[in-house]
Amino acid sequence: MTVGYPFSAVVGHDDLKLALLLNAVSPAIGGVLVRGEKGTAKSTVVRSLAALLPRVAVVAGCRFSCDPAAPDPSCPDGPHANGLSPHPRPARLVELPVGASEDRVAGSLDLERALTEGVKAYEPGLLAAAHRGVLYVDEVNLLHDHLVDLLLDAAAMGVAHVEREGVSVRHAARFLLVGTMNPEEGELRPQLLDRFGLAVEVRASRDPAERAEVVRRRLAFEADPAGFARAYAGGEHDLALRIAAARDRLPALALPDDALRKITAVCAAFDVEGMRADLVMARTAVALAAWEGRDEVTSDDVRTAARLALPHRRRRDPFDDPFDDPFDDTGGQGLDEERLEQALTDADDTPDKGPDGGPDDGGPSGGGGGEQAPVSQAPVNPGTPYRTRLLAPEATGRGGPAGRRGRTTGESGRAAGARAPGGRLRRLDLAATLAAAAPHQHRRGRAGSGLVLRREDLRESLREGRESNLVLFCVDASGSMAARARMRAVKGAVLSLLLDAYQRRDKVGLVTFRGAEAMVALPPTSSVDLASGRLARLATGGRTPLAAGLLRAERVLAAERLRDPRRRPLLVVVTDGRHTAGPDPVAAARRLAGVASVVVDCEHGPVRLGLAGRLAAALGGTAIRLEELAADHLAAVVRDVRRVA
Ligand SMILES: [Zn+2]
Repeated sequence: MTVGYPFSAVVGHDDLKLALLLNAVSPAIGGVLVRGEKGTAKSTVVRSLAALLPRVAVVAGCRFSCDPAAPDPSCPDGPHANGLSPHPRPARLVELPVGASEDRVAGSLDLERALTEGVKAYEPGLLAAAHRGVLYVDEVNLLHDHLVDLLLDAAAMGVAHVEREGVSVRHAARFLLVGTMNPEEGELRPQLLDRFGLAVEVRASRDPAERAEVVRRRLAFEADPAGFARAYAGGEHDLALRIAAARDRLPALALPDDALRKITAVCAAFDVEGMRADLVMARTAVALAAWEGRDEVTSDDVRTAARLALPHRRRRDPFDDPFDDPFDDTGGQGLDEERLEQALTDADDTPDKGPDGGPDDGGPSGGGGGEQAPVSQAPVNPGTPYRTRLLAPEATGRGGPAGRRGRTTGESGRAAGARAPGGRLRRLDLAATLAAAAPHQHRRGRAGSGLVLRREDLRESLREGRESNLVLFCVDASGSMAARARMRAVKGAVLSLLLDAYQRRDKVGLVTFRGAEAMVALPPTSSVDLASGRLARLATGGRTPLAAGLLRAERVLAAERLRDPRRRPLLVVVTDGRHTAGPDPVAAARRLAGVASVVVDCEHGPVRLGLAGRLAAALGGTAIRLEELAADHLAAVVRDVRRVA
């Protein structure tokens, strides 16, 4: 067995260590999200927690870690008899790889065995393995969307659930969720962000002496892991005992009214969404008192709880610049300390004002300040949306998520024959299976009425339908496009395409470029409201860094390919094709050549350069003129001609 780095040997990272320890004391807090750049040893710290957790008593032989005192009634290995003797085993830390298959995570039901051998064969997945332990997701911001959904379900219900062809299995899955991420590689989906009880930001120490100690210990550990672990065994033992003692103390600790008042005042002052923040803060403050061996919750506990529980919950203006770090509107301190102190003081000054007694948000402490618009020019409103022509990838996809855009073969759509499954059987085609088995019955020695079925008889149905795509808009917002009437038409066109994407159940993202840089105005999302809001506020003007826009789009697509590999992208570049800043866009366009793409050509005026057409050729895609985008374009032309005539 490999020896892990001891928790007690970690230098610095005080907030991270505290957040993990408090969750170990009180798993109800809901886990920890750890954000930080590469090379900050965040994974090492997380992994070292498992060794400190109290042992877990399980039913012997149960693969689902049932507690003998209260076995899961739906346990697939059950039902278990009452009064079984507990078998203690070490608590587990289970790692969930971001690209894991659904079967690996939720468990797999072997349909072939069920049909041919008549047994209900269920192999537990990672969610089962993590039950009553820690589930750790490194690079959680790159987790595939279908795994995010599984994880959210399990985290919300405490149950994992697998269903195939009418056979279903469910089992308990409660775990401490810990995620680490590097925010430079993309943000987390809001639903998942909200699931983490606490969030901490880690940075490498700026203190040379502390850095030296980190390196010294790391080298000592690598030279002799076992010896290093022995040297810290005492520290580890003490921490484990302290966690166990704090767990014992926890049930008797009550949250006094004044602490509760402070918590709700702070949450109101920071304008957090829902009630989860209040609950998490309350649990954290109580766990902190237990951890410190105290019998009551103090103001300091509430302050610390706020620092750990609130940074990722502050309500964000949906029109905020997405490059603004949601953790940081204060220049690096995470939470606005002044506002926190003010809220704590206000709560002291206004005891029991009744239900209306929250702090007044209209005063100088409210608003957050710094609400300057980032642009001098008032944004142009989009023109009236219209029905657009269908833009879609030309090639037929292979099993993307159901939708109404690109053509695909897969699990849904109209029937298009049957085939022997290439991998695991997904959708049984009963008629085709029976037809395949029928000619062999005599040779297989069938005697009774039952059909003798073999694995090679199994057929799955093949379907052809429409899939949902990721439509990534890459919109030129530069000066050459910014004549107000023109920009109105361009925004109107993008808005129309967005509405079309919404009706087709696509995911949409928006990259824009102007001046010196490109930005992700909207990371890929299913919320079209968000997208159209961003579009309306989109600032325009300046030079045209077309290559930067394409490269930014390429990065967004690369991250999405990891998160949601089944969903094919369609890149829609909206530009007149001119570039006046940065490198030649053709090289950047060639990097995107494997992606289905359409260039909406916005060039206008009497002299035309045809640059958008050249760009489309480099992308390996097609170009369409802005005026041709409307579905009833021809009708409109005919109308115009008649009017002139
Ligand atoms: Zn069990």
